[in-house]
Amino acid sequence: MPKETVLVIEDEKNILELIKYNLEEEGFRVSTANKGDLGLDLARKQNPKLIILDLMLPELDGIEICKILKQNEKTAFIPIIMLTAKGQEADRVVGLELGADDYVTKPFSPRELVARVKAVLRRVQEKPKKETFKIGSLEIDFGKHLVMIKKKSVGLTSKEYDLLKTLLEANGRVLSREFLLDRVWGYDKSLNIETRTVDMHIGQLRKKLKHEADRILTVKNAGYRFDDDPTT
Ligand code: CA
Repeated sequence: MPKETVLVIEDEKNILELIKYNLEEEGFRVSTANKGDLGLDLARKQNPKLIILDLMLPELDGIEICKILKQNEKTAFIPIIMLTAKGQEADRVVGLELGADDYVTKPFSPRELVARVKAVLRRVQEKPKKETFKIGSLEIDFGKHLVMIKKKSVGLTSKEYDLLKTLLEANGRVLSREFLLDRVWGYDKSLNIETRTVDMHIGQLRKKLKHEADRILTVKNAGYRFDDDPTT
């Protein structure tokens, strides 16, 4: 199996080397950047499997990088784990809302970070039971992580895709915001951002699904459900 590339964008040399060493020990190929603009450049060129992104960076900060990557169809799907420091809670929330997949707070243990990397990759690569799904003009190829409306590809972030997939897999059942948060984000609930984050991503997802947006129904006081009735 070819090695999976992880891109680490971090300006603190010691931390960068610590992460690189530990990921290589686990069989990953690691590329590194110590400045934001360089990191963005590498992300575009190398199309890594995952990005570990420090928030405080020279030239271009982590939030900006996250925003730029998630806005571009080609890089939107690359999972991002943010490295944040204590006291950066506000930035962390912004990062998660922009579509980052997880965060790790400094100081962290390399073992924990490696575990998070593997968990995020596992979530992203999980094979669904069915390979394709089609309803109305919406088509999804789970194997390729491809979502199409009227045969045109829709650029979803990994979180938007996970949300859509989770809703689909519920076969029309209502899923609470807490369930979605747990399933799609899967991190601890110490931040008081839960429902807002889910609602925001649902909003973005609906926008991208255009005229199929109404398939995602808001169920008052309960959560969301996917309307998979082909006659509607
Ligand atoms: Ca830094």
